[in-house]
Amino acid sequence: MAEELNPFKIAQEQLDKAAEIMGLDKQAHAILREPRRTLIVNLPVKMRDGHTETFTGFRVQYNDARGPAKGGIRFHPAETIDTVKALSAWMTWKCSLADIPLGGGKGGVICDPKKFNETELENLARAYMRAIASFVGPDKDIPAPDVYTTPQIMAWMLDEYTRVVGHNDFGTITGKPVEVWGSEGRMDSTALGGMFVMREAAKSLKMNLKKSTVAVQGFGNAGKFAYTLSKKMFGSKVVAISDSEGGVYDPDGLDLQKLEEAKAETGSVKNYKSKNAKAITNEKLLELDVDVLIPAAIENQIRKDNADDIKAKLILELANGPITPDATDILFEKRAMDLPDFLVNSGGVIGSYFEWVQNISGYYWDTNKFHTELDKIITKSFRDTVATQKAYAAKKVKINERMAAYVIAVDRVAKAMKARGWY
Ligand code: GLU
Repeated sequence: MAEELNPFKIAQEQLDKAAEIMGLDKQAHAILREPRRTLIVNLPVKMRDGHTETFTGFRVQYNDARGPAKGGIRFHPAETIDTVKALSAWMTWKCSLADIPLGGGKGGVICDPKKFNETELENLARAYMRAIASFVGPDKDIPAPDVYTTPQIMAWMLDEYTRVVGHNDFGTITGKPVEVWGSEGRMDSTALGGMFVMREAAKSLKMNLKKSTVAVQGFGNAGKFAYTLSKKMFGSKVVAISDSEGGVYDPDGLDLQKLEEAKAETGSVKNYKSKNAKAITNEKLLELDVDVLIPAAIENQIRKDNADDIKAKLILELANGPITPDATDILFEKRAMDLPDFLVNSGGVIGSYFEWVQNISGYYWDTNKFHTELDKIITKSFRDTVATQKAYAAKKVKINERMAAYVIAVDRVAKAMKARGWY
């Protein structure tokens, strides 16, 4: 991985910039540049032909000054300890910006889940949880789904945890199926939170979402729901969407059923067929002349080399880390509103927080309450971010939206560490 695209270097660089802007105490800064705890595990897994394959897994607890570590688990062939460290740092800022009582963590296993059958997937999920069981728990570290992990995988992990500790503890893991006390509303809460941010951002940009065009990169949990919800909630026209193999562009707008069919029958949405639709690459999708661009796939998609070609006026980072720091600077100069990942996609962990609250209190909410509370929290995060940006502008310091969000999040964690006597 090129050093400038190493996500952990990027996360550290972002923190360094924020520290400078806010005049962060040097001791706090030093603590916050590295994770508190890092666990690397070796996972022997029985495969379908009877042989045992060994996988490497990680769990990182970045900071728990404000509450137990919290963050998803990725099953990804390109996983590295540095991607997990970066993602755990971003979880710390995400939970802090949302002002929920959780710290930041992340997990990952280097594997290609597309090659597994269901039994292999279950075996790997259980092996991973067995290996990290003493490291996690409802008041220590609470995992959840992320790229290529699902509610079913969370259910297997919960069950494995239960076997290790000898009792049920539903608040150990979130993003579970509702049958094992996942929360109503959690399934699409990442995208829904992003939509509340989109609504607020459009208001401040005076953009009419009913007349807007949208491109979504990614067809996973975040991307697919961003597609359906932006149509349903605002009447926006989604003209492009993609998955890891490529994308499709249709100026007339896309149809969900046909997208699902293309995906199920051919393995990719790029084979979507209709009168004016044409296949496009993931790179070209980002450069489309649309009002709103939603990167909802993986890291480092908008970089120095393509940032200048981005035409959208509003960029909602629904993926984690889709835009590199130098690309953020270019977008800022172009006056595009680029809202950072740990604000835009925080609906996922805010939903997980609600699930955890329900699990530990044993009292369950309806979807309405879930949506109202999510809207309240994420709308406040957006407004706090814009207000901080304005407050700096009033002092003649121009900072982008990401730095404004960083300043808020880092300040809260630093204050908690100070109060606890860590420095
Ligand atoms: N994986 C999601 C994220 O990156 C959710 C994490 C969680 O719910 O703990 O925000």
